[in-house]
Amino acid sequence: MLYTYSDLQQYWECPRKWAYGREWEVPPKSLDTAMFRGTLAHVAVQAYFKGADAKAAIADRIITEIEYWTNGRPPTSALVEADRQTRKVSEQAFNLAAKYVRAYGGTVSVQDIEQELIDVDNPQLGGHRDAWGFSDDGKTKETVLIELKTGDYPDIEQLLASGQHDFYALLHNKLYEQPITRIYLDVITPELVTRVERPPQLERGMYLLEQLATAVEQAPTAIERPHYTWACRRCEFFKACRTRDGRGDDQVVLSQIAQRRLE
Ligand code: SF4
Repeated sequence: MLYTYSDLQQYWECPRKWAYGREWEVPPKSLDTAMFRGTLAHVAVQAYFKGADAKAAIADRIITEIEYWTNGRPPTSALVEADRQTRKVSEQAFNLAAKYVRAYGGTVSVQDIEQELIDVDNPQLGGHRDAWGFSDDGKTKETVLIELKTGDYPDIEQLLASGQHDFYALLHNKLYEQPITRIYLDVITPELVTRVERPPQLERGMYLLEQLATAVEQAPTAIERPHYTWACRRCEFFKACRTRDGRGDDQVVLSQIAQRRLE
């Protein structure tokens, strides 16, 4: 099992919630349209970088998604709705990708896309970065890590400061001879495409990698400890969690949650 930056985010929110989610991974209750639009836009941009057909790539990804939702079961009304939604967002995703390619498609000579980066020192840790390559602006040659985001971010500089991209840059540098010298964070919205860039801050990436290693070490005991938090008010595991604290059988409640979602 590979633990990633998003595991750390969830662990920081609540270690027990993270452990429950990891153990009881089942299809989501409903399709997150904004997230899926972003996934499809990523797929289309990747297809562009690979020289492939973006519309065909989106269609393939939708089929995979529907198969995931149905998982061998006959379609329910929720699945039919999911299908309808995916087809609706596919066009929006394609338009986002086209906008991105027009703005920045030629600025990097892309070497690789969407790879899994595994930490050479701890193969349990890693992540997926969007792309890396060499800047192609005719000026200084930089080795660039590209991260794409879709959605509205009120402060993109703040998004860049999250350290997620430094985390990927660190993993990249451990694996490749060409170290990342610049991070491009590209945000695509229907209105505009924005790029913020800076050199990687590797000490920030190292801090996050160490924190993730600690979280993984503590994972076996994460379910044991109650963790009272603001996140409780919208936690889907609230009932299981309180049952456990009352020395009841939280596994029964967790099975019920999983079963309900599959019905
Ligand atoms: S109810 Fe609260 S403490 Fe329990 S798992 Fe959820 S967020 Fe964590």
